[in-house]
Formats: sequence, C-alpha cells, structure tokens
Amino acid sequence: MAHDSSMLDGTIASIDAAVRSLGLEDDMRQVLVEPWREIQVGLPVRMDDGKVRVFHGYRSQHNAARGPYKGGIRYHPNADLDHTRALGMLMTWKTALADVPFGGAKGGVIVDPRKLSTSELNRLTRRYTMSMHHVLGVNRDIPAPDLGTNAQTMAWIMDAYGSIHGHTPGIVTGKPIELGGSLGRAEAPGRGAAVIGCRAIVDSGSTPGASTVAVQGFGAVGASAARTLFDDGAKIIAVSDVDGAILNTSGLDIPALERLVSEGGTVSDYADADALDNDALLLLDCDVLIPAAIEDVISVQNASDVRAGIIVEGANRPITSDADEILVEAGINIIPDILANAGGVVASYFEWAQNVQVFNWELERVNRELDKKMNEAYDVTKARADKNGSSMRKAAFDVAVSRVAETIKIRSYVG
Ligand code: GLU
Repeated sequence: MAHDSSMLDGTIASIDAAVRSLGLEDDMRQVLVEPWREIQVGLPVRMDDGKVRVFHGYRSQHNAARGPYKGGIRYHPNADLDHTRALGMLMTWKTALADVPFGGAKGGVIVDPRKLSTSELNRLTRRYTMSMHHVLGVNRDIPAPDLGTNAQTMAWIMDAYGSIHGHTPGIVTGKPIELGGSLGRAEAPGRGAAVIGCRAIVDSGSTPGASTVAVQGFGAVGASAARTLFDDGAKIIAVSDVDGAILNTSGLDIPALERLVSEGGTVSDYADADALDNDALLLLDCDVLIPAAIEDVISVQNASDVRAGIIVEGANRPITSDADEILVEAGINIIPDILANAGGVVASYFEWAQNVQVFNWELERVNRELDKKMNEAYDVTKARADKNGSSMRKAAFDVAVSRVAETIKIRSYVG
C-alpha cells in the first residue's frame, strides 16, 4: 500500500523548498526549521469518578522573529509532539504571509474532548495553563482555539492565567465576547477562506455565482466558509460533519442548515438532500472543494480521484505532500492552508490589538480589515506564483520564509 510521509516531514520539505529557491544558507535553514522552545508536561487531572488521570500536553514555540509566538491549542487523540511541532511551524508561515506581527506556535493535549465532561475539561485546561503560564504572555505567546477547543476553553485559560498575573484579556484570542473577545473572530476563519476562494474562482475565469462548492467539515471554518460563499451566490452542493455528508446538486440552503446545527442537529438531519459517504464528498465533481475538517484527508490513496478544479485548504495540511504532487500534476489549483485559513489568526491579531488598547472595534471594521489583509496575502502569493511559474503553495512558502528570514537577519541571529 502506498505510504504518505508524515505531516512534520511534509512541512519541513515545504520549508526546504523555499530555502533552496531563496538561496538561503544552512545556518539560516537551521534557525528556520528548529523550534525555538518546546515544553512537554504531564497533567494530572481528577476525573469525575474521583480517580486521577495523567494527560500529556505540549507547546511547541517554533519561531518568534516577527513577534510573540501565536497559535491554537488542540485537544485531540493525535496531538502528540511531532504533530504539534508541524502545526506550530505552519503558524509561523501563516502569520508571516498574512503580515501580522506574530511568530508561530501550537499547543496540544492528547485527549478526545468528547469523552470528558465539562468540569473535567475545565480542570484539564487550568492544569495545562498552570504548567505553561511562565512561557505564555501578551508579548510572549498567545494561544487561541483549535480542533477540540473553543471560546470556553480560552475563558478558562484567561481566568487561570489571571489568577497569577492579574486580569489579562490579551493572553488568549478567540475568547467569549463578554471577556474581551472580538466581534467577527468566530466567523473569520471561514470568511477568510471564502474571500480567498472567490479570488481563485475569479482568476480561473469564472464567478462565485456560477460555481459549485463542496465543503468537508461544518465546524469553525467550514460552516462560515459555506455561509459566506452561499451569500456570494455560490451553489453549495455538499457538506459534511463527523457523522456524515449530504448532497443536493441543486444547492443546499446553508442558513437553514446553520439553524438546524445551532439547535443541536447534525448535517445529516437536513431533509432536502441525499446522504453521501464522507469520503465520497472529496471526490465530487465540483468547481471548488474546501477540506475544512482535519489533516491528511487527501492522500496518495484518493488524490487521483479528486475532480474539483480548485481546492481551498480550510483545515491545516488536509493534503499530504505526496498527494499534493499528484494534484498539482493534474492541474488542480490548490490554495494552501497558510493562505486559505489565515483569517482566524488575522482576526486574532485584531482581538489582541483591541485588548492591548482596551478599545473595541465594530463588526464592520473587523470584517473590512480582515478582507483587506486576506486580499493582500492573496495578491502577493499570486504575483509570486505567476512570476516564478510555481504553485500557490510554493509561492506562499517563498513569501513567508523570506519575510521570517529577513527579520532573523536584522536581529543578527544569522549573517
Ligand atoms: N488555530 C487557528 C489556526 O490554526 C487560529 C490560531 C490563532 O488565532 O492564533 O490558524
């Protein structure tokens, strides 16, 4: 059976390709590839049955040349150190490409959060924060939600951190609005992906109104990407969540689906569609495919069967590096994660800036500035891809790595 290289290997390969095309020396390569600090902790947590269970937690602080470390905390059974490290690296390139003044980091706890009660998750999160607080800080490292965590998790972190350092809303982003969260932050990852998706559609010679879209994942990224594209006139023909997928080639009513899910339903409860296999969604004949669930869903096993014209990577690394080559060879335009899903961290930057200034923005300002940042990141990537005749992923990494390398040089770490 064909085997894909690991996510960490794939991420390093993308950095190496940029190092080669930018002509960077080996000492610079080492500074770019090595995480600057990593912490591994055992987290004893008293479970509801009275017994103590020890969880494994990580924070990989990859690079802070451009500003404080920034990136989410993931609660997932696969969130081991290698995985967390690869995701931390992606954050460095994402913040650089979006040109927000942060570095990159990621946190992870090996746990299936659906198997813990709310009070167990509360205790786990506070323990994680107490084990990490000395390497976090408004000007040091600012966590955010990721898979398996949400605004409530951020509220617990802020509260635990505040019990030591005093009230500090800027210690996390993606918080509840009541605690200093930003309007528009929850929708920003999907909105940003939609903005980028529309640019790619227009560059392909079409329009959103004439395009069909399939979205894998109806969570933080997928639901708002589907909604924004629906509002732009695109026909969303298929969506999925962990429990199943649905298809209607005449188009799904996304606002109705959002209402259904907000009332506790799953996408499979939607009546006006056919049930579809989750894997089959990825192989649908559509103009735009948005894998917005989890990594490695398109691998060498299924890459040759993908029929979309454009893939917008809503999730981090949904395509393995080996599959990426097959898709690029087939002429599919892949909009890479570090561009497509940067909307979350861009809005995190706005949230952090509001917290630091103790001044709240209106939603209209958040969305306007988000769209501007996303369009600028698309423009610089597209210009580079056109100039070098390269894929959008290669161009995005070239821009991001050159920006980080430049600040490393100015700080005189190298050269
Ligand atoms: N977890 C999100 C990501 O992967 C957001 C990170 C942040 O806002 O710091 O981009």
